[in-house]
Amino acid sequence: MIILKIGGSIITDKNSIEPKVNYDNLDRISSEIANAFNNKSLDIADGLIIVHGAGSFGHPPAKKYKIGEPFNKEEYPLKRKGFSEIVLSMKKLDLYVCESLLKHGIPAIPIQTSAVIKASNKRINNFDLEMIKNYLNEGYVPVLYGDIVLDDKLNMSILSGDQIIEYIASFLNPDRVVLGTDVDGVYNKNPKIHKDAKLIEKLSSLDDITQMESTTNVDVTGGMIGKVKELLTLADNGVDSEIINANKPEIISKSLQSKIVKGTKISKK
Ligand code: ADP
Repeated sequence: MIILKIGGSIITDKNSIEPKVNYDNLDRISSEIANAFNNKSLDIADGLIIVHGAGSFGHPPAKKYKIGEPFNKEEYPLKRKGFSEIVLSMKKLDLYVCESLLKHGIPAIPIQTSAVIKASNKRINNFDLEMIKNYLNEGYVPVLYGDIVLDDKLNMSILSGDQIIEYIASFLNPDRVVLGTDVDGVYNKNPKIHKDAKLIEKLSSLDDITQMESTTNVDVTGGMIGKVKELLTLADNGVDSEIINANKPEIISKSLQSKIVKGTKISKK
């Protein structure tokens, strides 16, 4: 079984303040996934879960409505409006993703994150995996995504696709966990800012990253550092993962087929 994350940086224009799909990338990645599974060594019936990020469909409104910060009763109507806005925006993005996957023959089943997951202080505390398992058993590909969710402590909070990956993978113990993003992997510092940044091929601690910077000024889920923290927790639970560059053609396809590609392995072994 494989759990595949497609970053919001890949399927959307993450720097846009308006929701903007990157259709070229989306179509290419759907076709790469389909091609990898047309290869005889891989079978969708063995299990594939796809989780995607929010990019410009989630982060700008989350920031606008200051989701995740405590608020008083008078502010609740506005916050609820923000909640609905983000849920609808993410449903739209997910529809584009699932339609694209289906167009390439992948039996994608959209699972609305905000309808099945609840959090407490920004961490998942309620998520019944039974339906996901049912769909997997029947050979479908459940698709989840970063979303806004109800939160026992904060009323509402943003849940990253990376946290969903950590949760699902810890419980389902997949053979592979692969995350596609817009850089070759984790570097000792942000490669988009520092030309001398070095790729870390195997990462087992946050100490391997010498210079911490947030990713973009609108990413409310912690960018690469947030991702790495989730994956280190996952590694603590005995599940390794890999971060690869989904912006470069054929990398996702090769990685799914277990061919060696450039990237970072997060492992404590
Ligand atoms: P995604 O939307 O694909 O999940 P993010 O945008 O959250 O991914 O994170 C990827 C971005 O993180 C890269 O584009 C890069 O600019 C930034 N980044 C910051 N620090 C690092 C680092 N140490 N190594 C790699 N990327 C980093």
